[in-house]
Order: sequence, then C-alpha cells, then structure tokens
Amino acid sequence: METRWIPLSTPNFRGNEKKYVNEAVDTEWVSTAGAFISRFEEQMASRLSVPQACACQSGTAGLHLCLRHFGVTAGDLVLVPTLTFIATVNAVLYQSAEPVFFDCDDHMCIDAEQVAAYLEHECRPENGRTVEIASGKTVKAMIPVHVFGDHCDMDRLMDLAEQYHLAVIEDATESLGGVFSRGRYKGLSTGTAGHAGVLSFNGNKIITTGGGGMVVSSDAAAVEHIRYLSQQAKDDAVYFVHEEWGYNYRMTNLQAALGLAQLEELDGFLEIKRRNYALYQEKLAGCGYGALLPFGSGEGSNHWFYSFALREADGAKRDRLLRYLNNRQIQARPIWKLNHTQTPFRKYRAMDCKNAEEFYGRVINIPCGTNLTGAQLDRVCEALLEFAPDS
Ligand SMILES: *Cc1c(COP(=O)(O)O)cnc(C)c1O
Repeated sequence: METRWIPLSTPNFRGNEKKYVNEAVDTEWVSTAGAFISRFEEQMASRLSVPQACACQSGTAGLHLCLRHFGVTAGDLVLVPTLTFIATVNAVLYQSAEPVFFDCDDHMCIDAEQVAAYLEHECRPENGRTVEIASGKTVKAMIPVHVFGDHCDMDRLMDLAEQYHLAVIEDATESLGGVFSRGRYKGLSTGTAGHAGVLSFNGNKIITTGGGGMVVSSDAAAVEHIRYLSQQAKDDAVYFVHEEWGYNYRMTNLQAALGLAQLEELDGFLEIKRRNYALYQEKLAGCGYGALLPFGSGEGSNHWFYSFALREADGAKRDRLLRYLNNRQIQARPIWKLNHTQTPFRKYRAMDCKNAEEFYGRVINIPCGTNLTGAQLDRVCEALLEFAPDS
C-alpha cells in the first residue's frame, strides 16, 4: 500500500513564480516598493471589478487596517462569528475594541438572523449610532467571514448594516475566486459586497505570496487611505512628513511577484478545487457514518476547504477518525476551537452558539490542495470508507 504522507494543502507553483521572483531580485526591488506590487494590485482589482486594491503583509493586517479606517476604537463593539480563524477576532483586539460572538447558519457562516435579533432586541439607536443597551457601548462594525469558501448572507447583513449604521468588513480570506450565486450581489466577487473586503495569501490559501493580504473596496478613497496607513502614513517621501500615525504593513515586491504569478493560475486552481470536490462527493456517497458537506453557494463557491462531517456531533469519534487518518499518513484536522471558548475571549459577550458547537463536534477538513493527485484522493476516500466508526 502507498504510504506517503498526504498533506491537507500545499502551495502550487507551476507557473511564472520563479520567473517573476527572479525578476524582482535581479532588479533589486525586493522591499515595500516596486512594480510587482502595483501590478498585483491592479490585476486583483480588475479581477474583482473594484477600482482599487491595497496589498499588505497579511490578511490579519488587512483586517486591522480596515477597522482603523472605519473608526473602530477602544470600547466599541464588533460583531463576529465564533466559528472562524482567530485572526478575525485578534484584529478587533488590536483596536482595543470588543468582539460580540455569534453562532453560524447551516453553512458555517455567521447567523444573520441571530445578528438581526441582537440588533433589534438588545440595542437602541442614539444620535445616528447603535448602542448596546446593557453596556452602553457602540456597535461599530461587523466582520462576516466566508468560511471555507462558502458565502454569508450578504443581502441580509448589508440591510442590517444600513439600518443600524455599521461598517461591514468582509473577511474573504478563504473565498477568493468565489462569486455570489444569488440575491442582489449575484455575479459579484466575494469581498466586494461589504464596505471593504480582505483577502489573504497565506501558505494554504487558494493562492499564496508566502504571507500577504489585500484590502479591496468599491470605495477608492477608502483603499487609498488604507494604503496610506499601511505605509507609516507618510505624506512626503523626501521630508518624511506624517499627518497621521500608521503601520509597517505594506506588502513587499518579492511577495507581490509571487502573487502576480499565482493570480495567473487562479482559474486553473478553481477548476481543480471544483473537480476534486465533485470526485470526493461521488466516491464518498456510500459512506454510512458521515458525508461531505455541500457548499450553500454551489458553483459560486471557490471550494477552498472540504468539510467531511459525521452524521452526529461526537468529539470522541471525531478525534478517533483524525487519529486513524493520521496513522494512514493522511493529514486531516478539526475545525477551529470556537473563539468564544478561547482563553483571551471568554470574557466577551457570546450568543447561544449551538450550531457552531455541533459543527465543531462533527466536522473535519480533508486534503484539498490543488496538488492532490487522483491516486491520493482515492486513498483518502478508501480510508474514510474503511473507518469503523463504532469500534
Ligand atoms: C487566513 C485567515 C485570516 C488571516 O490571514 P493571514 O494572511 O494569515 O493573516 C483571517 N481570517 C480567516 C478566516 C482566515 O482563514
């Protein structure tokens, strides 16, 4: 039996990556200025049909820049899902703001109806702001996350944002290439429905720059201000005049060289992700104890991460399955420990998160990289089908 390790996801450098990176090195433009940065920004903006994009050091930095730009400050409340990578919440803390945690819907994305109920019953309007009645704190923003490449209900969330005067920062770090499949944003790219959207190019994302991120928005002035903040808020390059204080969050030309080459491959990667998802679905159809979860956004999803779910939540069974796969040299992992249960965040407000808790006890992510071979995919399916869930 083939026993080589099958990773969850690895970078796929099959295009112009080395060529462009060498070009950056050869021209000695390796730092936070250079032609690849603006080319990467322009290509991404054009792909997402937005006027401007700002390349930065990470998705986390992008989220932080957006919160700062939208005026989220100490003591403000920011509505976040509990089921997300911790970066979404850490960025809120960077501004000394406070997260309020929400449950997820049937597709692991923030429960828009629970957000609506909170705003309606637990908040009141005050001078054009929304104030949480119990604490007197201002609800300033929300960060919906397109978890694993599925899509949030942006129609509902944007309606709420307008009614309650909230800034919406769309965490599209996992959904690049995805296109909304219904509603008034139908046909538009994820990350472009909110007031700003954030992408990530970390190593396991659909395209990577090693580490990196990008902020996109249909509001060109917002992106320009965010770019300014990302470059130490420098107003004059000769005399070093600064009218604001900023961050060293700009992407480097080396990273952007990699990113530009990766962006050229995005359509091919999307096709592989979709095809492998369909293959998994077909081969796992006869599995009794579990199933591949569907993407609610259907073909509009970028199919970034595949979720295999037990029929019922059972943490012990889930862990046995993970150990079993690991022993068969297959990398798989549980979804993130829910944020409202994490030590630094336990003191903040959390709604009833029973859907998220159930997903946490049921779901594992299985190998989904664009390098995954047909033989590897078969091995993963064989292993899943041979697992004895009750032994
Ligand atoms: C990857 C990711 C981020 C952060 O991106 P980095 O580039 O790693 O900082 C934020 N939110 C979610 C949901 C992510 O998956």
